[in-house]
Amino acid sequence: MSTDGELLLRAIFNNPAEDTPRLVYADWLEEQGEHDWAEFIRTEVAVEHAPECPDYMSELGRCPCLRCELRRKVDRLQNCPSAVKWRRLPWGASARIDFRRGFLFRLQVTTAQWLAHADAITAAHPIERVRLTTWPEWDFNEFGAALKGRDRRDRLWGGDHSRRDIALRLLAGEWPRIAFELPPGFVTRTAR
Ligand SMILES: [Zn+2]
Repeated sequence: MSTDGELLLRAIFNNPAEDTPRLVYADWLEEQGEHDWAEFIRTEVAVEHAPECPDYMSELGRCPCLRCELRRKVDRLQNCPSAVKWRRLPWGASARIDFRRGFLFRLQVTTAQWLAHADAITAAHPIERVRLTTWPEWDFNEFGAALKGRDRRDRLWGGDHSRRDIALRLLAGEWPRIAFELPPGFVTRTAR
């Protein structure tokens, strides 16, 4: 990717709530000959602004409303051969991914996949949510003790930390813009 593309991408990362940087990136893609990719971003942005579908019971394939029409177009673009370019992930297409407003927004991966590829993923996608399907294999007793010592005066963190709290806190420290989800269970408190 050229420097222009990287700069435009960075504008999206710095203003994730804004549509304009995304549409500017789409124009740049168009100039690179990436018509389908550009159209995918524009259509996904348009979906967000289309009125809610008036008929919730209708089938997506049939409803004539603007929102459903745009969603059908998104589906077509997601299934066209060029889609591999914007759906590409470092370990292939096995992960569950969701797009919003033209860019990868949510990702479901194992902790091992995330830790191995987080730098590459976050450099290429303005990702906002990551659902981890496995628990990190960290020494929670050690991390819990470290956090406890650091936050002695903080009431919330004054006692034992659950492994969930510890894991979410460590993840947030490393990737502050991303909301993480962990698998259910593992509610055991750390040992003293
Ligand atoms: Zn509709």
